[in-house]
Amino acid sequence: MLYIRCSTLFTPGRQIADGAILIDGHKILALGTADSLRPPPGAQILDAHGLTAAPGFVDWQLNGGFGLDFTENPYSIWNAAEHLPEHGVTAFLPTIITAPFEVYSTAQLVLRQGAPTGWRGAQPLGLHFEGPFLNIEKKGAHNPLYLQAPSLEKTGDWSRKNGVLLTTLAPELPGAHELICVLRQKGIIVSAGHSMATFEQAQQGFAAGVTCATHLFNAMPAFDHRAPGLPAALLQNPGVMVGLIPDGIHVHPAMIALARKLKGERNITIVTDAMGALGMPPGEYGLGDYRVFVDQTSARLVNGTLAGSILRMDQAVRNLMSFTGCSLAQAVEAATENVARMLGMRGKGVLRPGADADLVLLDEQANVMATFVRGVQVFSKL
Ligand code: ZN
Repeated sequence: MLYIRCSTLFTPGRQIADGAILIDGHKILALGTADSLRPPPGAQILDAHGLTAAPGFVDWQLNGGFGLDFTENPYSIWNAAEHLPEHGVTAFLPTIITAPFEVYSTAQLVLRQGAPTGWRGAQPLGLHFEGPFLNIEKKGAHNPLYLQAPSLEKTGDWSRKNGVLLTTLAPELPGAHELICVLRQKGIIVSAGHSMATFEQAQQGFAAGVTCATHLFNAMPAFDHRAPGLPAALLQNPGVMVGLIPDGIHVHPAMIALARKLKGERNITIVTDAMGALGMPPGEYGLGDYRVFVDQTSARLVNGTLAGSILRMDQAVRNLMSFTGCSLAQAVEAATENVARMLGMRGKGVLRPGADADLVLLDEQANVMATFVRGVQVFSKL
């Protein structure tokens, strides 16, 4: 058993000062104040005085990192995942962008085969297929050659059981309504994105089973008072969650703050949408078939189109605080509890007895000092 003592403990809806957490194997056994929860005899003790213990971050849109691109090579998922705990990430959805169907099957196979022996890192919870059922008018950095019309036949082996946790599609495409219904039955979360949906088409998408949106404001119609479109539909529907990329480039900080105000703090999530250059120096990298040119702050195709980000998840949390004025606890919630709720995963994204022991220790500037995945310390600067 592992007993961690910390200055503040973030639990759902409550912060515990001078807290302690007791981990047994992969799970949290108990938590409370250090006065009320004493270390059992024989437990390993970690004194994290001065640090905050928060749930580990869950990134539901990550295309790659550390020089690796999941679409180019789905086998690189495990390798990239080893580095993610440095950014406080304990779980993620490896994201495969629009590609030939063989790439999706290979990614499913990679998850089915499981981690290589001795591997340690952030846990892939399931795949995010961003495509291929996207609107060509909002293709972004996706290769239009592989875009498809929604198809029940081609997605026959997509299911939560078979590794697919979430898919991003354009709900206005012909055949999308039926596909959304079928994917929902197979346990897949359906997110609207890379879409030209009108306000009315968005409502039809929600009725069919769309419950969230991929990178709100990016690759969708502009926020227009005469033609409200998808963004307004997402903002006014309290039952729909949204993902935001808070790198200060994809979305103006003022629009992040506006989205948070309209959606409420429990209905926004943050993602990195990071690509292969995450954690690497500026240069030229791959995203799917394309070459991407990366400087100090952004990743772009040769024509200037944004091609994912180079945002770290811990920086995303800090940016959300500075863009919106929210507290660290509220920013963490957008990267943890809200994501787990959106994905329908109890036992993830929260510090509570019975949940997986996925946690980060943060200093006063919200820098990651240590990361634990399912009770195992996978990163430490202590
Ligand atoms: Zn995208």
